[in-house]
Amino acid sequence: MIRQLRLKLDAGRIEVLTKHAASRVERNARGEVIGLTVKSADGESLIQAKKAVVFASGGFTHDPDMVLNFQPGPNWAAVPYRPTRGDFVRLGIETGAMLGNMVGAWRRRVGARKRLGIPERGARCVAAPGDSMILVNKYGQRVVNEKRNYNERTRVHFEYDPVESEFPNMLLFMIYDQRTAELFAGNFPLPEPGDPTKLCDRRPRYFNR
Ligand SMILES: Cc1cc2nc3c(=O)[nH]c(=O)nc-3n(C[C@H](O)[C@H](O)[C@H](O)COP(=O)(O)OP(=O)(O)OC[C@H]3O[C@@H](n4cnc5c(N)ncnc54)[C@H](O)[C@@H]3O)c2cc1C
Repeated sequence: MIRQLRLKLDAGRIEVLTKHAASRVERNARGEVIGLTVKSADGESLIQAKKAVVFASGGFTHDPDMVLNFQPGPNWAAVPYRPTRGDFVRLGIETGAMLGNMVGAWRRRVGARKRLGIPERGARCVAAPGDSMILVNKYGQRVVNEKRNYNERTRVHFEYDPVESEFPNMLLFMIYDQRTAELFAGNFPLPEPGDPTKLCDRRPRYFNR
């Protein structure tokens, strides 16, 4: 894909400017978009558009204020590329773009130990390993189908209890038997075989089956 993109850019003699951040959409007196102001180490400059400006500047996961405003509850981590700080959300609003589905996200669980600053090698959990295993909340209630796909399953963390004023499923605890501990050992968050303190962050083996 990148090779094809490169060929097209070269064929059209299209210049690629990295380290230039779009900071303002420029418009003429009729309100038509005519270009962008971009910021770089050399200061601000104007890039004029021939026909239109197309944004492909990612999401807003690394902007804590936007996450707080748009997402349904606390997020413990963010994996996307660092510059995804929602620049287009601000620029788009200024140009009158309608926002939609800002509450949506594809999420996966992270290990609480890591987020609490307790060293461990693994952190991410796309699918909880084991087939004799359940996930329960802090009240010991099973609240989710453990084998649902990660983007659906992780919605359960954001269920809010207005009576207790809490997210009862924010932390889920994995309960499993000896069989799962042995058969799926080494698949995060299960420890490596024979060493309960050593966690593994390699890709779950059952992904490749
Ligand atoms: C760890 C991880 C694993 C993933 N795995 C998969 C997978 O297996 N399959 C799948 O389909 N998807 C996967 N995804 C999702 C996929 O990578 C994203 O959905 C996709 O990259 C989003 O593309 P995008 O072009 O919208 O934004 P991005 O890829 O985030 O690109 C946005 C670009 O805009 C630039 N930018 C931001 N602000 C400005 C500004 N003001 N001016 C100029 N440039 C700016 C950024 O530097 C960046 O280069 C994964 C994502 C992550 C984080």
